[in-house]
Amino acid sequence: MKDYKDTRKLKEEQPVVAICYDFDKTLSPENMQEQGYIQAVGYENAAEFWKESNALAEENDMDQNLAYMYMMQLMARGIMVFTKATLRKKGEDISFFPGVLEWFGRINRYGMERGVKVEHYVISSGLKEMIEGTKIAEEFEKIYASSFYYDNKGVAVWPAQVVNYTNKTQFLFRIEKGTLNINDPGVNESYDPDEVRVPFRNMIYIGDSDTDIPCMKLVRSYGGHSIAVYNPTTKDKTQAYKMMREGRIGYYAPADYSEGGELDVIVRSIIDRTAANEKLEKIFVEKRKEQRDMDENRSEEDREKSELILSLDNSRNYATTHLVIAKLKKVVKWTKAESDELFRIGMENSQVNGVLSDYDVKSFYQNLIQSAKSLTDHAKQIKEILERSGK
Ligand SMILES: [Mg+2]
Repeated sequence: MKDYKDTRKLKEEQPVVAICYDFDKTLSPENMQEQGYIQAVGYENAAEFWKESNALAEENDMDQNLAYMYMMQLMARGIMVFTKATLRKKGEDISFFPGVLEWFGRINRYGMERGVKVEHYVISSGLKEMIEGTKIAEEFEKIYASSFYYDNKGVAVWPAQVVNYTNKTQFLFRIEKGTLNINDPGVNESYDPDEVRVPFRNMIYIGDSDTDIPCMKLVRSYGGHSIAVYNPTTKDKTQAYKMMREGRIGYYAPADYSEGGELDVIVRSIIDRTAANEKLEKIFVEKRKEQRDMDENRSEEDREKSELILSLDNSRNYATTHLVIAKLKKVVKWTKAESDELFRIGMENSQVNGVLSDYDVKSFYQNLIQSAKSLTDHAKQIKEILERSGK
């Protein structure tokens, strides 16, 4: 089996923000197939193509995406050779919402200035080969979309991948763990939360329709950010309101990616927040590591001793004091620091101090005094109390 390790992205020093985009009607105003391809295979009206394709799916219990892929291939017969190159070429004609072309460079720079690496991913039910033909193809770290298997002449013969709205979510886990290759089984391995490359809290999902809901919901429920976009020309916010009402998204904005636009402001604010958040997260991880290393370097016995001392310090009643003293008595040897601490507690905690002359507590402290090389003020005070109590 192929070793995917070289295709994996590993966690790096800089935090990563991953922006995941749906494609059709999120980055591009129309479905990609409608921007030249459907017309080229003889449909005047794109709606007619979708009607036939959806009916094919319906009648045969077929996945809608597999149905449109089949139809694309079928309708090309006698008109064009259905190759990778044909699809790529059609991708070149795909148009974008305002500001899309300048968006990536600007957002990347914004992130860089704040110590955050920004990466872009497409997760689309459309065709990978068409997206690869677009002007923005190079901006993406990875394009997850439906695709064909091509024979040695480059002709599409079979679907290779089909991305539909429910399986869209699996790619978010790939991005999270850096196991980007579609067949990398590493996506199922469990990672220490600190080792995750792009935690969900650093993910932004941008989409426009019901098919984006599973991804939006997943990102949002794990602390990330989901944004719905709507067409800036029609300004129809019905879908955005619905998603907001149902708690799928945190934000919505027109699909206008221009500088200073609503979407630009939202995404930059998320980057700002991530930068601050990750600074704190880094401190937390460092502190926890220090504590864990400390624990590892200490013997089990040392750890137990300090926990016992802590319980005595925290004792809020005589019963607990007696219980802890019984355990403390089993310890054979105390360091100077430990016994000094026990003397301090004996004077400062009233729930210990009040029972100093009880037999068990008294004998514990007497032994401690006897084995101490030098006595602190607290130890001297305890010694006095014990002597006064007689016997
Ligand atoms: Mg869409």
